[in-house]
Formats: sequence, structure tokens, C-alpha cells
Amino acid sequence: MTNLRSVTVGLAVVLSLAAFSAQSIAQRTAPRVSTSAAIPSPKSVLGFTPGDDRTIADWWQITDYFTRLDRASDRVFVETLGQSTLKRPLIVAFISARENILALEKYKDIQQQLADPRKVTDKLQRDRLIANGKTVVAISCSIHSTEIVASQMSMQLAYEFATAQDAETREILQNTILLLIPSPNPDGIDIVANWYRKTLGTPFEGREPPELYHHYAGHDDNRDWFMLNLKETQLITRFFWHEWFPQIVYDVHQQGSNGSRFFIPPFYDPANPNISPVLLRQVGLIGHKVAADLQAAGYRGVLTNALYDTWWHGGFRTAPYFHNSIGILSEAASARLMTVTTVNRDQLARSSTRGMRNATESSTNFPDPWPGGAWRPRDIMDMEMIAARGVLSMAAKFRGEYLRNFYELGRKAVETPIEPNEPLAYVIPAGQGRDETVAKLIETLVGQGIEVYRMDKELYLTYGPQVLQRTNPATEKLGAYRTIIARPTMMEMPLGSYLVFLNQPQRSNILALFTPQIYPNRLTPQGEAERPYDVAGWTLPLQMGVEAPAVTAIKETPAQRKLTLLKDGNQVRADLSLAARKGDESPTKNPVRNQVRVGIYKPSLSNMDEGWTRYIFDTFNVPYSSVRDTDVRQGGLHSKFDVLILTSQASAQILGGNATGTAPPELTGGITEAGVNNLKDFVNQGGMLVCFDNACDLAIKQFNLPLRNVLDGVRSSDFYCPGSILALDVDNKHPFAATVPTTLPAYFINSSAFAVTSEDANVRVVARYAKENVLRSGWLLGEDKLRGQIALAEVGAGKGRVVLFGFRPQHRGQAWATLPLIWNVLSSATANVSE
Ligand SMILES: [Zn+2]
Repeated sequence: MTNLRSVTVGLAVVLSLAAFSAQSIAQRTAPRVSTSAAIPSPKSVLGFTPGDDRTIADWWQITDYFTRLDRASDRVFVETLGQSTLKRPLIVAFISARENILALEKYKDIQQQLADPRKVTDKLQRDRLIANGKTVVAISCSIHSTEIVASQMSMQLAYEFATAQDAETREILQNTILLLIPSPNPDGIDIVANWYRKTLGTPFEGREPPELYHHYAGHDDNRDWFMLNLKETQLITRFFWHEWFPQIVYDVHQQGSNGSRFFIPPFYDPANPNISPVLLRQVGLIGHKVAADLQAAGYRGVLTNALYDTWWHGGFRTAPYFHNSIGILSEAASARLMTVTTVNRDQLARSSTRGMRNATESSTNFPDPWPGGAWRPRDIMDMEMIAARGVLSMAAKFRGEYLRNFYELGRKAVETPIEPNEPLAYVIPAGQGRDETVAKLIETLVGQGIEVYRMDKELYLTYGPQVLQRTNPATEKLGAYRTIIARPTMMEMPLGSYLVFLNQPQRSNILALFTPQIYPNRLTPQGEAERPYDVAGWTLPLQMGVEAPAVTAIKETPAQRKLTLLKDGNQVRADLSLAARKGDESPTKNPVRNQVRVGIYKPSLSNMDEGWTRYIFDTFNVPYSSVRDTDVRQGGLHSKFDVLILTSQASAQILGGNATGTAPPELTGGITEAGVNNLKDFVNQGGMLVCFDNACDLAIKQFNLPLRNVLDGVRSSDFYCPGSILALDVDNKHPFAATVPTTLPAYFINSSAFAVTSEDANVRVVARYAKENVLRSGWLLGEDKLRGQIALAEVGAGKGRVVLFGFRPQHRGQAWATLPLIWNVLSSATANVSE
């Protein structure tokens, strides 16, 4: 690696020297030479052209190239937003005409006024802002690091815009400001680049690296855009929604190899009802422009209106809809990292998805199937370059319209009249007791630019919880729901409570975060559930277990209210007497009450649920060690640990790990039967084995526990619940549940529910799925299968215990409502010993 790097740099020096001398010759013979001769091409710096087969630039090379471009080109300005999770620089390149780059502060100011129409006093000012502003377009590459080509493409794209002199490029440069993010996951670029170089020329060339390509989140790094758990999400969210307010955000991805060659919007159903129809139309318009450009340039296999939808809120390109901006996604078919792949007609014929019967059949949304053959990184890169240019060309040509629409959406959000008995605000009442959680929720809201006010004086509010209600209680399998505000009552709300008003530019964001989701009952013609693209429900205060009822009236006039607008999360932490957040350290106090030695199983086959578990433990400063397959196979676990946690993973994956031949030998094989025996010894000797969701299956079967998962083998026509919030009935006489309410929202994502198989069994039930009104947010088909079944149980075995969580108590670092259960389990693991 080091060798390769120094070779590349050496080459770069030689080549850039050559470029300098070429320029001086040119200047002597032709005085009006373009400055582009001095601008280093990616090839001159890297030694290869980005997208060439079997080449890869790592993060150091990418940032080095952008630094050189910044120095050489007056169209490019590079800013470092901060540091990634593993301390790499996260950069953005501003690309625009020279005169715009010199006036970036002015354009940022225009954007901030357009983003908040309350700052615009009259039509004259509005028209001036629209006349003088530029369309701000963000393009982000390879957030999913194995979808590597776009990160390489970013250098070529920047170079072309830094050097091209044609009329179209000039029009784009004059009318737009491009915020180009070579990758929002720098750590992942290096994980993939290092792995790719290490395996080049081996049987594993082109396979995905076996570790998570984000330290905590892996692929879920693009599931964090309303929660802001990750450093990268926080930095970019601040940059976008506090500073630059891009009107268009284009997120460049890759999909599997065997389907369409390129997906571009319009999207598939369902659409989130909080997204403005104007935005959906504008998304479609840009998508069709890109599709038409690709077709005109001779590229085949472009798909629209399929698979990807706009329901869920947490992605890089979905978050913009809730900030009045346009979000574009493209998904190019993947090669094998930077190695060519071959796709034949049979593989294409077998590839089907929502909105595409198969990848060989033409249809209105897929008019020109690709015939199959070799598929190279270069194909991906060329299509992405055309798409990027297409997006920018629209942004330039319709500059005024984009700015006006953006402003108008903000204005409508601010001016939407309040209907009687509809929410005008949400209130987070003081004195809930869970101060860390309340602080986190408010930090998350303020972090994405939502205005939150602290009440410095009591107010009389009419308020009640916003909940789902079945429209027809008789409908058993297919529940139909509506949202109601339950028993709104006028009561005094204490000072120190927080108010989130709906009449602000982010109205739709607030609604999408605070209202329970009702995912439509979408079934295939065979009556099976149609899988949503991501989760169905995510209501944030509910997931976090924070009360946030809807307010329908305030007695006091605006003049009588005493409210303070919060500037940042530390203000909330100070209000609640919590330690301040400084730098990277999490100030949260370890909630585990006893000394306990915790091992978290870290499989060779990467597992996001394991990553998020580490995230939560690190955030709460709960000590743990990672336990690898070799450790479990070796045994002696009880001398090292009091508790072992198996995060959600299929039994076969835990046992088998990476299959032989799919990774280097040291990374294959799971815990094996030997490991299972060691886990049994661990429990028999007095250890506590804690299993999350899918991992319960391993414990139940291998330990012969007297329980079964009642959802095993159930068809999706009878039961389906993909990523939703459900209600638990909790027995808080059990020490695991001593600190939580008797009704608790829990995150269920195709998860588990148990029944006891023998009556005399040593099973203590801690929580059951509710006996009625199970669904709190999302989609639940076949509620009857779940009612009253076991959600959390403790089973005695030998001198020890097995704890089974049927749901995901720490899902994506978002399900803070159920975190206390984890801390209580850990606290009671050694309670007997320490007493
Ligand atoms: Zn992706």
C-alpha cells in the first residue's frame, strides 16, 4: 500500500512537471492560452484515468487530487467539513464560474434567505434574490463504499468542469454552484481500496470486503439522515440545511449486477404523503432528462418508475424532500468493484423487481433492454457522468424556476392555515425523566435545522397524543387506520417544556418525524405483501420513547408567550443539567449500575446490527470487548465475560460465517459446533447469553430452549411487518423492566415472537406484544399472529441464563425507547454476585 502510494505520487510529480513545461511553451507561442493547460488531469496525478479496469484511488489520492485542483483552478474551491468517524477529512468541492467562486458568501446568503421566506420582506426582495441567485446542486458519490465507481468519477467530473470551454459547460458554471462530495464515507473508500488492492489477482478479486464499510453503520450509513447518529451525517446535514440549502441533491449509487443498467427517477409507489407534489414532479422531470440523455448517447437498459420509492425519510436523497428540495437517486448496475463482470441473458431474464417484470422485456419505463455481455467500471462511470451533466444542465437552464419553487414551498409551509383540531405544534413536556433521551431528540431536531423553542413560562395548551386508530375494528388481517389526536384537553404545560411549531419552512419534515406512519396495504396479485424499499414506520419521538403530543390550541396570545429559540444541542443539555458535548467525546453517563464484563460477538461476516450495538455502547460509554469467531471457538468464555451478546443474525451465518472460497481462509467459518458447545459451557457455568431478534433462533435450537418463534415459516400473505413500531405490554416487576413504562414502543423489522412449548419451563416473560392496538407506526398485516406473544424473555439454563429479545432493542441507534431494557439486563447480570 505504502509502496503503491509513493509510486503514484512520484509519477504525479513527473507528470505535473511535464504539464508545467508544456504550458510555458504554449504561452510563448500563443499568449491567449487557456489556463486549463496548468490544471492537472486525474491521470497526470494518479497515473491512470479514473474508471480504468482494475485501478482504484484511495481517499488520500482523492483528497490530494482535489487539493491540487483547488490550487490550479479558479473554478474550484475545496472545503473540509470536518473529520469522519475514523478521523479522515470529509471534503466538498465547490465548482462554479470564477466570479461565482469569488462570491460564495453572497450566494450562501441568498440561499439562506430563499430557504426562510420569513427573512424576505416583500416581492421586490424575493424577485431580486431569485434574479441574482444560482441553483445550488449537491452531488454525492459512493456513500456506499462498495458502489465505488462514483468516488473515482468525481475527480474526472471535477476536472472536466474545471477545464471545459464549451457553451453548455459555461452555461452550467454561470448558473449553478456545484457542491461535489467525492464521498460522504471517506473511511469506507479506504476499506474498499485497501481490500481491493490486497485481493487483486487473487481468487477474491472484486468481492466485497468482509468488514462493515462504515465503522458503525456499514450500508446503514445511508439510513441515518433524520437521526444524525453518525459524524458524517451530522457534518453534511449542517452544511446542507444550516448553510447552503441545495435546491437539488443528487446521490449516486450502484445496484446489483444483473438487473437494469441504470435506474433514475421517477420513483415507484408509495410516495410519502408529506412530500410536495411539485417536488415529485420536478424529481420526475430531471429523471426523464437524464434518461433521455442516456438513451440519446446510445446507452441501453435505463429503468424508471421501479423498485425505489419515496416513502421513507432517512436516505441521503430522501431527506431533501423534507427540506423543500429535490432529491435524485441513480443506481448503476455494479461491476465487481473495479473489475469487469459478465452478465448473460439468462441472468437478466431472472432479474425482476417492483415495476420491472425482467431485465430482458421492454416496457414504457424500460424501453430498451440491454442485451448482456461484459460490464465494466467505465460503463458505470460514463453513465454517471452523463447523468451528472444532465442534472446540472437542468439546474442551469431552469435556474429561476428552481429558486422560485424552493422559496414558494418554504412560504407555503410557513403560511399554511391551521385547521381546527389539527396540530399546530408538538410539545415535549418537561419532567419526563429521561433527560438524555429528550436531549438527544432535541439535538437531532435542531441539528437538521428544525426550530425548537423552550417555554420560559407556563402555557395553557390543548393537546393530546397523536395515535393510530383502526377505522374498522372488524378488519382482521388488513387493518385500515387513521391518525387521531386522542382526547385533546386544555391543561397547563410547565415551563421548561419544548415547542416545535408547524409553521416553519420544515413543516413537512416535522410532520414526517412526529406523525405515526400509515403504510398502505400493498399486496402482490398473489396476495403476498409487497416489500417496501426500506422501513414502513419511524416516528421519532415514539421510537425514542419520548412523549410529544400534538397541540391544537394555545390559550396565550403570541405576545404573552415567553419562548427561547434553541441555538444548539448544548443549550438543551444545559437546561437539563447534563454534561456538555465537547469535541468527539460522548458526555453520556454509563447507565449500567454494576460492574459487568460484556462481550459483543463480532462475526467475520459483517453485520450492521453488531455495528449499531457498538455505536450505542460507545455513545453511552458502556465498556465491552468484541468477541471474534476464533474466541468463541477457543472457549474459556466464562473466565472472561459475564455477558455475551449475539446481535441479530441468522443462525446459519453465525455458525458458518463466510463460506469457504468467498474470502481468504482466515476470514471464513463461523463459531462452528465447537463454538456452540463453548457458549453452552459459558451459560452452564453462570454466564448470561443475550440474543437480539434473529440470533434468538440459534439459542432456541442449539440450547433446546422450551420456546418457539410463532412467526417461523408464516407466509407474508398471513403476517407481515417490515420496519414498524409496535406496542409491548411490559411486566415491570421483572428487574429487566424495572425502569420502563408498562406500555413500551418497540422496533420490529421482520422480527420474532415466541410462545412457550412446555408449561413447567423455566421461562420468565418480561414483555409481550400488546393484546390490542399493536401497531403504533408503519405497517402490520395479520396482527392476530402477534397479539399477546412473547417479545422479551429470560430463560434459565444451568447456572446461567439466556435472554431473548424478539425485536431490535437498539435498531439503527434510533430505538432509544427500549435501550433501558438492555442496560437493565446488563445491570442484573452480576447483581447476585455483587450483592
Ligand atoms: Zn447504495
